[in-house]
Amino acid sequence: MRPAAVYPDSWYAATANLHAVYPALAGAVSCDVAVVGGGYTGLSAALELAGRGYRVVLLEAERVGWGASGRNGGQIVTGYNKSMAVAETLAGRDDARKLWDMGEEAKALLADRVARHHIACDLRWGYVLGALRRSHLAECDAMLAEWQAYGYQKARLLDRDGVRALVDSPAYLGGLYDDGGGALHPLNYALGLAAAAARAGVRLFEGSAVTGLETAGGGIVRLTTAGGVVSARYAVLAGNAHLGPLSPAVTARMRPRLMPVGTYIIATERLGEERARALLPSGAAVADMNFVLNYFRMSEDHRLLFGGGVSYSARQPARLGERLRRLMLKVFPSLADVPVAYCWEGLVGITINRFPDFGRLAPNIVYAQGFSGHGVALTGLAGRLMAEAVAGTAERFDVFARIPHRPFPGGRRLRMPALVLAMSWYRLRDVLGW
Ligand SMILES: Cc1cc2nc3c(=O)[nH]c(=O)nc-3n(C[C@H](O)[C@H](O)[C@H](O)COP(=O)(O)OP(=O)(O)OC[C@H]3O[C@@H](n4cnc5c(N)ncnc54)[C@H](O)[C@@H]3O)c2cc1C
Repeated sequence: MRPAAVYPDSWYAATANLHAVYPALAGAVSCDVAVVGGGYTGLSAALELAGRGYRVVLLEAERVGWGASGRNGGQIVTGYNKSMAVAETLAGRDDARKLWDMGEEAKALLADRVARHHIACDLRWGYVLGALRRSHLAECDAMLAEWQAYGYQKARLLDRDGVRALVDSPAYLGGLYDDGGGALHPLNYALGLAAAAARAGVRLFEGSAVTGLETAGGGIVRLTTAGGVVSARYAVLAGNAHLGPLSPAVTARMRPRLMPVGTYIIATERLGEERARALLPSGAAVADMNFVLNYFRMSEDHRLLFGGGVSYSARQPARLGERLRRLMLKVFPSLADVPVAYCWEGLVGITINRFPDFGRLAPNIVYAQGFSGHGVALTGLAGRLMAEAVAGTAERFDVFARIPHRPFPGGRRLRMPALVLAMSWYRLRDVLGW
């Protein structure tokens, strides 16, 4: 049996709430639903299914919240990675309307779970999208008009002074303020969901990587780990960017549609309350509008958490941290004297069209992946919709499942170089201000 892995060294791990260590799977277990992956998606599905009376086993390869769910920027964002106009093109107007409504439900679900399960994760509302150039200002206008057309009333435009009152940086020409966006401590949110799932009766196993998935006789799904085997009537696959080649169907259907991309975050040393408040007086979370965007917020202990960039290889964290620090100083030149205390990397799973990919590998095997940097809220909804699908009411799950997805070009060997080229192009556009 493998000992439980440690969380990667991050400010989140350093400030994690007291939490349980769940055992590794040993021997044969049977249940109604087996969930693969202990990030937000899997935890949400497990919680929802247990609430509906199913006997649920959750298998996590490392620790709950070990993947993107315990490392991300914690930003709760409105809508999807792409505009609703793109959603309408992909899904049609009726389904786009449902997607919008479910995007809003995702944020409400997150807030409800934090409150209901008393999850101490520093949830705060208020979100600024900062425009770095004139074309971004036009994008803000268009975004606001689009959101309002969908009935959204929580956002407003900011001029240069307006944004400066919220973010003390010379970088922004204006932007958009969203009361319905916000931020939280991502690892503590994941740990709180896991504790809630355990209380609801979910059997959680850590250090239990699923290496095989097959359908046995009578529609039973069999999932194999190094220490045991789970037999279930249904399987929910929530391994996202970390999911390995569990079965031929996973390899053929899921993996080509998902690109795992490394992205990273730094946390500065403590700034002190006064300096922190001067930089971000309202405490709102912030993101800029570049294609390869930067995002940041202040931690409870007054550090700037600054994320962004993409990496396609296992670089040294120190080099990544230095690169990100230079980007941070462009936003806040006044932080030149502040050392970086933490730097960590995570894998974000993206799809070609940047909408999440939901589907079925068999009538009793569902999956959701590829939240494309918008998963903090949408994953909770994904878990709920997979639970609905298992319970036999798949209308809402199918709204997502109908979104057409293509495989990344280049096959397994060439898709990463192709993406590097594409991202370099967009990064160049950001730098040149096109
Ligand atoms: C650095 C970074 C910053 C981000 N910032 C934001 C942000 O600010 N806002 C936002 O909305 N989104 C953000 N995201 C994206 C967001 O974190 C993800 O969309 C979300 O966490 C995905 O949750 P998940 O449960 O689907 O996947 P994960 O959290 O990655 O969980 C998958 C889990 O499955 C486990 N697993 C995989 N395969 C197996 C297997 N075979 N057997 C058992 N277990 C398995 C893994 O160990 C992992 O714990 C960011 C991502 C990163 C990496």
